[in-house]
Amino acid sequence: MRQLYGVASLAELVRTHAPCVVLTGAGVSTESGIPDFRSPTGVWRRYDPMEYASIDAFRAEPAKVWDFYGRRLASLAGAEPNDGHRALAELERRGWVEAVITQNVDGLHARAGSRNLVEVHGSIRTASCGTCGATVTSEEALGLLPVPSCPDCGEALKPDVVMFGELLPEAAIGCAIRLSSQAALMLVVGSSLEVFPVAGLPLETLAAGGRLAIVNRGETPLDDRADVVIDASAGRTLAALARALPERRE
Ligand code: NAD
Repeated sequence: MRQLYGVASLAELVRTHAPCVVLTGAGVSTESGIPDFRSPTGVWRRYDPMEYASIDAFRAEPAKVWDFYGRRLASLAGAEPNDGHRALAELERRGWVEAVITQNVDGLHARAGSRNLVEVHGSIRTASCGTCGATVTSEEALGLLPVPSCPDCGEALKPDVVMFGELLPEAAIGCAIRLSSQAALMLVVGSSLEVFPVAGLPLETLAAGGRLAIVNRGETPLDDRADVVIDASAGRTLAALARALPERRE
């Protein structure tokens, strides 16, 4: 049974368990106009992930996968950080948030000012060559469609995002696991918690005796394990959380 609480309960949990570690998903960026994956309006209602975002698809038909990423990049072009990204950056400056672990590849947390940021699924802002390691910006890669090739060795460039069927970058997931297992409180924002291994990070916190809070529209498989669950806008809830907490953590 989904339990619902208000921002006051969340603020009290953060106040007594700070600094918290925040885990964000696509839901923190929908208010910036970027569709998530699994909502009724999400990207995967229109595109089969195995056809457009898997490493096997990239190897078989790089032009088709680059066409998909070109569309995603175009939808990101005008996107700006929203109140949720800004509130998390502010809460980090004020000492309430230790780090943000994100599944998002849109770069909006960094643009909002989050400093201690772990991008476990990579970033769509660059593309790299798997053969010689050269990296170009995504704008440069888009200028080389249908299949951007490496300026140094001519191999096909790949967007620097983790595709289905790929392992997560070792350093990033190692850092995320360490942060999660040491957190007194993990705050999940805008994630369906369906994509592993990232969806297992809150379990690391719980297994080590930490607490869990969830701000997400719709249910997640871990709602029953959370002290606070808020089914509401990420932007509005995080902005209200920032207002509800004292200016600085003592
Ligand atoms: P998801 O699509 O599985 O889940 C998003 C969740 O956020 C859903 O439960 C949805 O109901 C909720 N949500 C949507 N808008 C919200 C809002 N304004 N406030 C609160 N909740 C809201 O996304 P996920 O869990 O991040 O996992 C999917 C994968 O999607 C990740 O691998 C990620 O790399 C990728 N992705 C990233 C972006 C991005 O970079 N912005 C966009 C789409 C998908």
